[in-house]
Amino acid sequence: MAETAYQKCINPDCGAEYGCDESFFKCPKCGDLLDALYDWDKKKVPTRLSDFGKRWASRNERLDFSGVWRFRELLNFCDDKFKVSIGEGQTLLQQNDNLAEFIGIKKGNLHLQYEGLNPSGSFKDNGMTAAFSHAKRVGAKSCACASTGNTSAAVALYAHHCGMKCTVFIGSGRIAFGKLSQAMDYGAKTIQILGDFDDCMKQVQAVCTELKLYLLNSLNPFRLEGQKTIMYRILEGLGWEVPDWIIVPGGNLGNSSAFGKAFYELKELGLIKRVPRLAIINATGADTLSELVNNRNLKWNGGKVDNKIISDFYAELTARNFSPHTCASAIEISRPVNLKKCLRAIDVCNGVVRAVSDEAITDAKALIGKYGLGCEPASAATIAGLEVLLAEKTIKPDEKVACVLTGHCLKDPNVTVNYHKEKMGKYSNPPIECANDLGQIIKLMST
Ligand SMILES: *Cc1c(COP(=O)(O)O)cnc(C)c1O
Ligand SMILES: [Zn+2]
Repeated sequence: MAETAYQKCINPDCGAEYGCDESFFKCPKCGDLLDALYDWDKKKVPTRLSDFGKRWASRNERLDFSGVWRFRELLNFCDDKFKVSIGEGQTLLQQNDNLAEFIGIKKGNLHLQYEGLNPSGSFKDNGMTAAFSHAKRVGAKSCACASTGNTSAAVALYAHHCGMKCTVFIGSGRIAFGKLSQAMDYGAKTIQILGDFDDCMKQVQAVCTELKLYLLNSLNPFRLEGQKTIMYRILEGLGWEVPDWIIVPGGNLGNSSAFGKAFYELKELGLIKRVPRLAIINATGADTLSELVNNRNLKWNGGKVDNKIISDFYAELTARNFSPHTCASAIEISRPVNLKKCLRAIDVCNGVVRAVSDEAITDAKALIGKYGLGCEPASAATIAGLEVLLAEKTIKPDEKVACVLTGHCLKDPNVTVNYHKEKMGKYSNPPIECANDLGQIIKLMST
């Protein structure tokens, strides 16, 4: 394959470029984030998005079956022989009229992209299939990640598939049971650090540098390339029409960053005429992005981000000995590594950021369960955020909205069971105790 992909630093004052045979997680020159970029050879990229859909007809081909590699011309950083797939991206976009009606959106306008249908039960598989393909290209033998849970599940699954050794770092007591069970079951070396995700993230970078391990967090630019395809599949599900809004939970901000890049590139390539708006939803107990964007006026500013606003805020967090807390453990992050790329996505997509309470998240989760396919707590921040944006009339009832449900509803059964059994919210549906007696059972059935 003629080399058309390269890595480039996002800092315009640096702009250093590197080939794809190297693996870094930060620009070696200035320490900023790296992008995977392409010299688009227009002849090789389909001229219409609908051409990608034709691959459904050849789904017996490994790469055409993958919901990521079906779009391979848009993330072409390695030869096909390196491309890893275990059937990721067989997800669906559910038009949900019942939930739409309940929260006051016009029928036909609310869509839920259920990424819980991926092999390890979260959207992370989209990123891992791409990152592991790059890991194979560079000949990596062992890898590592820090995780709030789903990254470790996805890494463990793909590492096993690729015959690579893997170590996952998780914050002690900060991980949902379903996810922890997966990491152990898929055979990852699981290290629980007495700290939170941000502590793990810091340690894993040092470990990977020291021991020359391949890093699979979303600092990895190739991982984010795979996550672009979530947006391609939403467009596909809408008959290649661009919705008005994409809503996504914000944790380490890899998804929001990838989505902004996806739309920017599609527009550049002339494959879409306009980009959707992006709404990124934090939990109030982990609301760094919301605080920086809404209260401290942090902006992309053509790449000249005011680093002082960020470092001042992080210094405040340290001084307060702050550790983030939310029941949505997947977004329990206070120093998001992709912050700057996310600012760029907000710039590209005229984005907004909101923060929602745990109460709003668990109520929204119950609604998604009742009316839809369910999801884990972090994913439900999307619907909680949508309710806020509708109430303030930022989103109008006649606009087309797609919410990304990032993880499966069985990932965190504790939150679900507590919510219902302990009658914690508006939509709690607790089980009813009953004596082992037919008469009493019949009586209960009629109430
Ligand atoms: C990782 C994760 C998130 C956070 O996504 P970012 O890209 O880090 O912002 C949200 N929801 C679920 C279920 C996740 O696993
Ligand atoms: Zn640089």
